[in-house]
Amino acid sequence: MKITDLVGKIQGEFKISPFRILKILSKIEDKDISFYLKDWEVEISEQTFYFLVKHLKEGYPIEYITKKVSFLGNEFFVNENVLIPRIETEDLVILAINLIKNKDIKNVIDIGTGSGVIAISIKKQLPKIKVRASDISEDAIKVAQYNAEKLGVNIGFKIGDCLDPFLEEIDEVQLIISNPPYVETSFVEKNRFLSYEPRISLDGGYDGQSFFKKISNYSHLLKSKYLLFETSEFTVRKTAEILSALGKVQILPDSFKKERFIFISPDY
Ligand code: GLN
Repeated sequence: MKITDLVGKIQGEFKISPFRILKILSKIEDKDISFYLKDWEVEISEQTFYFLVKHLKEGYPIEYITKKVSFLGNEFFVNENVLIPRIETEDLVILAINLIKNKDIKNVIDIGTGSGVIAISIKKQLPKIKVRASDISEDAIKVAQYNAEKLGVNIGFKIGDCLDPFLEEIDEVQLIISNPPYVETSFVEKNRFLSYEPRISLDGGYDGQSFFKKISNYSHLLKSKYLLFETSEFTVRKTAEILSALGKVQILPDSFKKERFIFISPDY
């Protein structure tokens, strides 16, 4: 099918502009948009057409089609076993890197690593520090491991829930970072754009707080550590209240000025 036919077919049904159609196409086929703009006679494959419609109709993520995501300048492999890294999480990693440098931190763990973007990006920037990462999903760990190898960094990966995989060496850990599942169950269930990602990576229980409640039970082990977590702009106050059991909580904004991150420091 030619681009002209494709646009004609799709534009009316989905009520989107030809330019947006071309933008999505360029992502699916990994081509510059100018390629299509130059020549409207370009042929589109059956498969591309199928994915384009699936994306427009059902919200199927393009990243699961192209199998890649760019995160802080590195390209990561993703598949349906991992959450698609969000741009806000880049801010979390930048906060972590600054903190590690300022406080001369040498030992970091990333809980619920998914595709590994947090742990791997930190290790790439600061190769001398020790970074370990965990996930409850073995399939996610395989993706993270693949990304670490692809990007040439050494991360100690472990399978397990919350702090469990690190309990033996918890004393040496200085910073705990996590982008845990924090979306409220009812929101996950009604949002079709989330329906293709692993439920386990998004669903934070009825109030989105399961992970935070769980980790707040470990207060005796976390007294002298830095904690940096991503959470939802809608429930961040609730998260802060739960985590106040671990120390003085600071709420930090993301680049969109949404209250997104929780920071707890042993310094005060
Ligand atoms: N930020 C993601 C979203 O809103 C959720 C990520 C998570 O639960 N950790 O879709």
